[in-house]
Amino acid sequence: MAKVMAVNCGSSSVKFKLYEMPEEKVLCSGIVERIGHDDGIFTIKYNREKDTKTLPVPDHGYAVDIVAQGMIEKGIINHLDEIKAIGHRVVQGGSYFSHSVLWNEDTVKKVESLIPLAPLHNKAHLTGYEAFKKALPKVPQIAVFDTAFHQTMDAEDYLYPIPYEYSEKYHIRRYGAHGTSHKYLSEVGEKYIPESKDKRMIICHLGSGASITATRNGKCVATSMGLTPLGGIMMNTRTGDMDPSVFYQLLAVTGKDYETLFQEMNKKSGLYGVSGISNDSRDIEEACKHGHKRALLAVKLWARRIADFIGQYYVRLGGCDLIIFSAGIGENSPSDRKAVIDNISEALNVTIDEKANQETIRGKEGLISTPNSKIKVAVIPTDEEVMIARDAFNICLK
Ligand code: AMP
Repeated sequence: MAKVMAVNCGSSSVKFKLYEMPEEKVLCSGIVERIGHDDGIFTIKYNREKDTKTLPVPDHGYAVDIVAQGMIEKGIINHLDEIKAIGHRVVQGGSYFSHSVLWNEDTVKKVESLIPLAPLHNKAHLTGYEAFKKALPKVPQIAVFDTAFHQTMDAEDYLYPIPYEYSEKYHIRRYGAHGTSHKYLSEVGEKYIPESKDKRMIICHLGSGASITATRNGKCVATSMGLTPLGGIMMNTRTGDMDPSVFYQLLAVTGKDYETLFQEMNKKSGLYGVSGISNDSRDIEEACKHGHKRALLAVKLWARRIADFIGQYYVRLGGCDLIIFSAGIGENSPSDRKAVIDNISEALNVTIDEKANQETIRGKEGLISTPNSKIKVAVIPTDEEVMIARDAFNICLK
């Protein structure tokens, strides 16, 4: 038995979960938010209890100390030495990493070199790694990349049709995201299709960031997110794929600068932009119930973009055995799932059991398709942290 920590360091937050491995028992979890502020927030959950404190958190190093102190105070550990390995989520691994690796000088250099592709994320992951290294210098740390799972794509699936020298020289290509989640879901999904020899799945990770991945026998064949998380399907606040001329034309007609418009594509578009309501899909769902026209239009647009990808991936895989819904919206919104299925049911002979659809929410897992549906449809809650803890345990302690 060994205590292993899964962490996700953002530019102003450190999220953590401590596991007893290999049992995968969660000992505690929590987050330090508003790093860099006098009113930082530390939350720790353990034994079904939750404790929240507001305190100054000047930097990531301080945040790590707060986490360590919190775990000791609550009696979850007696000493930091009990933690035997740490796994960090890293958003962008480029073409360098097709699996998780130990953090060392080479890892740092490569993650640093990828900062232009994920400026906020990769920089924060490096800061987080350094902070943990300082607090726990003897503990091995690994990096688990969101992009690693997608490294099995063929060039036809990851290249953009731009002048080839740009792809080569500047590493401009599709990298995808949410790979750790897609990998987890493809593994859990297998049990629903024991009869299938190819295990063809279309996995819909529908959170505030969202992506769809086509997998065959547990390997990624294609994924919707692109060079950055702006690509692919329409999301809560992101456009997803678009004719690049839209951007060019908006620059001309609005007079806004490049950076402002780019931020709008990332933070003011998608469901939020079309509905004009909120960046939280629950608010949009509520407005739909009251007949809000633009909210209804936004959800229709959203569902159709997802259906477009499902159709594309059905062809790419030469069929499909299982469609998976996961993440915040995919796990919790029966109406949004139905909106997607309504768009594909006629062509793909997919039908869902409305009772199962309504009931499979808030962390429940199960099939929501009818027995005669040509493709099975499952809702599976995702768990990126356990994948990080598994890799940390396997790489550092086995
Ligand atoms: P995630 O990024 O996976 O944490 O997902 C966040 C998104 O899931 C937000 O847009 C939430 O509004 C959405 N979400 C969470 N719970 C529900 C729910 N009960 N119904 C609809 N959307 C939900």
